[in-house]
Amino acid sequence: MPDTILVANAGSSSIKFQVFDIVGETSGLDLNLKGQVEGIGTRPRLIARDAEGGRIADETFSVGDLPDARAALGQLGHWLRARLEGGFPAAVGHRVVHGGPAYDTHVAVDDDVLTKLEALVPLAPLHQPNNLLPIRAIRAMQPEVLQVACFDTAFHRGHPEVADRYAIPERLYRDGIRRYGFHGLSYEYITRTLATLAPEIADDRIVVAHLGSGASMCAIRGGRSIDSTMGFTALDGLPMGTRPGQLDAGVILHLLTNNGMTADAVQHMLYHDCGLKGLSGISNDVRDLLASEDPRAKLALDYFVYRAGLALGSLAASLEGLDVVVFTAGIGENSSAIRAAICRRARWLGIDLDEVANAKGARLISAGTSRVRVMVIPTDEERMIAHHTLEILKRRRRH
Ligand code: ADP
Repeated sequence: MPDTILVANAGSSSIKFQVFDIVGETSGLDLNLKGQVEGIGTRPRLIARDAEGGRIADETFSVGDLPDARAALGQLGHWLRARLEGGFPAAVGHRVVHGGPAYDTHVAVDDDVLTKLEALVPLAPLHQPNNLLPIRAIRAMQPEVLQVACFDTAFHRGHPEVADRYAIPERLYRDGIRRYGFHGLSYEYITRTLATLAPEIADDRIVVAHLGSGASMCAIRGGRSIDSTMGFTALDGLPMGTRPGQLDAGVILHLLTNNGMTADAVQHMLYHDCGLKGLSGISNDVRDLLASEDPRAKLALDYFVYRAGLALGSLAASLEGLDVVVFTAGIGENSSAIRAAICRRARWLGIDLDEVANAKGARLISAGTSRVRVMVIPTDEERMIAHHTLEILKRRRRH
């Protein structure tokens, strides 16, 4: 069996995983399997597919058997060991949402790193603890295995100071309240893919629209993030499946002081009950809204498209122009209707959509006459994590 790299993306109710084989002299990465344990805390289920998409696991558990993420991890470890015939991965790469101000690159985890990452829990209370759980569990079991933390914030750490700041007192900035930006692994993947697919545009002014259940946009030039719609947390910027996107801070003050809501209730509402779900009262899923006749569904989609158009204009301003737009993630890759609606609102920026290419889901969806090139590129954050993990593994093995 070849050496493998395990990639883990642990969320609040699911643990997504992929295993890559390290192959050949150049140490390429071939997908071996992917899957998830979903429904943690409600209806735990382990599903996995091999590289060809064939189902290799589908097991449902009672909450009594798998009560929490720790138990789910144990079950996953058990299944993986059997599947990999006892061979433990050569390294494990983890998606970690927050690297704070310190980490502008992905790092091998040791006790010191782990302590620093734990200190960032208050900056991402819903994500960071879940992300760190498998790191701690694997360290306890097999401390010799290389584990790498890959951060959603790292790609954005080079922002110019004006894009990194809020207009709040300096001491708060020093306390870490700044515009971090997220989805960095996706933006990094798209940037690298563009460099291979279309090297001639590497220095162009690029906006990538990562439109999934979480959504953001990023302005990129020279392979670097210049600005992004997300800020201190993953709540800011574009409206999302269940998050509101940009919201006047005064609304939060009002809810806390005049509306009798507790901080916990406000937090829950902001992460789970807003966005497309809150506006439509129907669903957080674009597919359901597109299929619905309800005017609230239309309003939710119109709001999404309107805000995406505003963000595109704003990021074009940060780049002082626009040459390329890339759509990616669940909505960006799959919904020609949403892509078309956003592009129609962005005609003034020089976007001229090829409706036929867009409907077909071609890679290039702008017309030959379009000043701005518009593309659709599927993202692969897990492969990016595997790539970084392999790089660090290779460096270790050389020394
Ligand atoms: P995440 O990885 O953050 O869970 P994804 O990038 O997988 O999110 O995006 C999920 C979202 O993509 C779904 O909630 C749905 O709104 C949207 N989506 C997926 N497929 C389609 C489709 N064919 N048409 C429209 N929207 C889609």
